[in-house]
Amino acid sequence: MHPAIKIAFGALMVIIGVFSSVTFWEELLTLVQASIGPLLVLVGAFIVWLESDELKMRREQKKQQRKGFEKFANESDQKKEKKEKKEKKAAEEPEEQEGHTCSDCGKTFDTQRGLSIHRAQKHK
Ligand SMILES: [Zn+2]
Repeated sequence: MHPAIKIAFGALMVIIGVFSSVTFWEELLTLVQASIGPLLVLVGAFIVWLESDELKMRREQKKQQRKGFEKFANESDQKKEKKEKKEKKAAEEPEEQEGHTCSDCGKTFDTQRGLSIHRAQKHK
């Protein structure tokens, strides 16, 4: 169909529509007034449904976030504990990792016992 014909058709529809609206103005007003109620019901119900869903989702999200945070906290606690244990272990027995070195003269020994005997004899 040619655009000009479409335009003419559209214009005709507008004219008829305006004419009809003017003719049935009272009925149109009544229709609008009558449709306000059901429209309100529909929109209101939609908003309630949508927002209650959103509220539910938000609650679940919060729950999950809290759970996730607790999990994260637990994990970091465990990691911290492990790290502390490791550091404690390293501080307790550094000799076992690098042999038994006398801190006074630098001599090394195979066992802690050997070093103790050496220290007792040489560095009183
Ligand atoms: Zn020594």
